[in-house]
Amino acid sequence: GVPRCPLTLSPHSRMFSLDDFEVGRPLGKGKFGNVYLARERRSGFLVALKVLFKSQVEQDGVEHQLRREIEIQSHLRHPNVLRLYNYFHDRRRVFLILEFAPQGELYKELQRYRRLSATRTATLMEELADALLYCHGRKVIHRDIKPENLLLGLKGELKIADFGWSVHAPSLRRRTLCGTLDYLPPEMVEGSSHDEKVDLWCLGVLCYELLVGHPPFESPSAADTYRRITEVDLHFPPHVPEGARDLIRRLLQRVPGQRLPLRGVLGHPWVRGHSRRVLPPGNVRSDHRVTTD
Ligand code: ATP
Ligand code: MG
Repeated sequence: GVPRCPLTLSPHSRMFSLDDFEVGRPLGKGKFGNVYLARERRSGFLVALKVLFKSQVEQDGVEHQLRREIEIQSHLRHPNVLRLYNYFHDRRRVFLILEFAPQGELYKELQRYRRLSATRTATLMEELADALLYCHGRKVIHRDIKPENLLLGLKGELKIADFGWSVHAPSLRRRTLCGTLDYLPPEMVEGSSHDEKVDLWCLGVLCYELLVGHPPFESPSAADTYRRITEVDLHFPPHVPEGARDLIRRLLQRVPGQRLPLRGVLGHPWVRGHSRRVLPPGNVRSDHRVTTD
């Protein structure tokens, strides 16, 4: 069976250092440093070690964001949320000990196949909706759901990663507009306050991108993307099935309160009809749904 992770047995009794790990191949490049495959020497347990350089984190003034990422992600326990087991630091660097996601980014799967099947997409939507139901139940909104931030476990199961932009709801903070606009909902492009319903919008954008191969409001210029988002200028290529269109339309509602809630996603006929979700042993389905949302 899968070895129990020894890294968190007693969270504060054990301090880690780089000497505890045998560092292997790079898994990816982050903004503030690289992510490496690593093996904890004592247990042989494989993890992903995310290295951030303090100088760069400070230069960008995102210490608070990093603290939030650590604080939030280390307390979340769900089969579709990437675990943050622990962290440590030395003079120059901060190291995050993360669950290793052997199949890498969903983004790469999408690139390889251009677009995904109804079965694959519906399965991912169920996994993501269930993970978000868990997060929202703990007043955590992710705010940065997109294929680059979704990793895949051994059997291709979805793992939400990168909580760098996540917050405790409700939020009145204004997100600085940087990077791509494609996943931002109308209330965020317009800079008004927003709550956990931003993740519902992102779920709709993701569902579209997985089935079609590009996000729904993609345009040559940011100004056009902005306009298309605020107008919800949504069109489907002929191959998108009606059930999926219905789900996407219900999520991509301009008014946050009118978006299909997560339970509605989990119960949507198209999701129910196509999802082949498999849970790891020991996870009883809908266990945590009693008190959330
Ligand atoms: P950015 O903000 O540019 O997305 P980042 O600093 O947030 O970068 P991450 O997204 O966390 O960094 O990681 C960078 C890349 O490393 C990921 O896109 C992924 O390819 C790889 N990676 C990160 N964590 C893991 C993991 N736990 N298992 C496997 N690969 C990982
Ligand atoms: Mg990332």
